[in-house]
Amino acid sequence: MPHFENSYFNQLPGFYTALPPTPLKGARLLYHSEPLAKELGLDDSWFSPEQQGVWSGDILLEGMQPLAQVYSGHQFGVWAGQLGDGRGILLGEQKLTDGRSMDWHLKGAGLTPYSRMGDGRAVLRSVIREFLASEALHHLGIPTTRALTITTSDQPVFREQPERGAMLLRVAESHVRFGHFEHFYYRQQPEQVQQLADYVIEKHWPSLSGQPGRYQQWFTDVVERTARLIAHWQTVGFAHGVMNTDNMSILGLTIDYGPFGFLDDYQPGYICNHSDHQGRYAYDNQPAVGLWNLHRLAQALSGLMTIEQLETALAAYEPALMAAYGQQMRAKLGFFTEDNRDNSLLTDLLSLMAKEGRDYTQTFRMLSDVAQHEAYSPLRDEFIDRQAFDGWYQRYRQRLQNENVSDSERQQSMKLANPRIILRNYLAQQAIERAQEDDISVLARLHQALRDPYGDAPEFADLARLPPDWGKHLEISCSS
Ligand code: AMP
Ligand code: MG
Repeated sequence: MPHFENSYFNQLPGFYTALPPTPLKGARLLYHSEPLAKELGLDDSWFSPEQQGVWSGDILLEGMQPLAQVYSGHQFGVWAGQLGDGRGILLGEQKLTDGRSMDWHLKGAGLTPYSRMGDGRAVLRSVIREFLASEALHHLGIPTTRALTITTSDQPVFREQPERGAMLLRVAESHVRFGHFEHFYYRQQPEQVQQLADYVIEKHWPSLSGQPGRYQQWFTDVVERTARLIAHWQTVGFAHGVMNTDNMSILGLTIDYGPFGFLDDYQPGYICNHSDHQGRYAYDNQPAVGLWNLHRLAQALSGLMTIEQLETALAAYEPALMAAYGQQMRAKLGFFTEDNRDNSLLTDLLSLMAKEGRDYTQTFRMLSDVAQHEAYSPLRDEFIDRQAFDGWYQRYRQRLQNENVSDSERQQSMKLANPRIILRNYLAQQAIERAQEDDISVLARLHQALRDPYGDAPEFADLARLPPDWGKHLEISCSS
């Protein structure tokens, strides 16, 4: 039996509204993540039909104290005021044997005092997308919330059209967002800002708890985690799509998957969110937005630190981002050492890819097969401007000569930096369409493949192919 401790409920009265989930009619468990269940110490019996009420909000386990958190935030650069969990319920915090605790957060769990104009629900389409994306990012090594179960029901939920209602059980060490701090700052409740900071520090940065200077050290770490997170998104070609401050995790996790997208063709200005008309959350704007969001957090924390302390912490952003990005891109290129040619080799390759609309993931994966002594690479045939490619490739091979590693050693390490399988939109779409007819085989197979994104398993070769034309131009609905 999982053990729940509920520190948020016990230590932060006034930071939430206590209320239970509102179940969906005729809900049933559709799918769950076996590897996550193992991590949480849950055996198969938890996912039997007798237990499905646990995942649909019908049954509360002993020790759960369900609540909806209140927070605010800046949306698309504008102060939006109070938001909060409008359709999610924090059921409880599971204490694991390794000492960590994990929020069980049921998304799509009905109306709360923070639902505003919404219906408190989620649709199966968006729940599957979030499930797959969080599993994909996790296995790519990117910090993220996780997803344990997908529950579906025949109760329709209305978006552009009626869709199947669903719930997702999301698991994370914390659901505290930048927007939680902003909420109490803008309400002019500095004691609550401090109380929340102390709570977060004690729970997630215990070595800083009670220390003088803890706020600056903590905030610096938040800055650096955010920088590293966004660097990692950039290197795998992930666009979040809705980087509002209420969707920024204080732990530096990817959270709140909506109209996200992985790059197919390399387009630096890729906008995955069709309501983002200005391109505020375009792929290549994410690093700048991350810093903008941290400035909003800094303002909310201005009662805890001096301006100089805040600025010193914020100044850590760019170096942390560049260091992480540089290290990861060097790994993608197969460079073990640093060289002053690296930057131009990278930018020249990227601009060649952008000019020709080459697939981001596949190009780097094919580069991982390059043999330094061979003047020809199959990658050449992927480019239209062969001359431009040849010029670049010659410089690349010269650069590889500086590396003291064998081809096979380099290829092996490059394959661990260049995924073969990512969650392309069209793959998610295929899984969704079948799951809507109660066939989870495509979803399960894709989930299986995404658990080993760097592998070479021949049975998943089809999932590594370039997207079909229809798959590149899918309009992903922003309504979720
Ligand atoms: P998002 O940007 O999608 O993370 O959501 C922004 C805010 O809208 C959050 O406070 C959500 O809880 C809320 N929200 C989104 N969809 C719904 C919905 N269907 N019903 C109620 N609240 C919602
Ligand atoms: Mg959100």
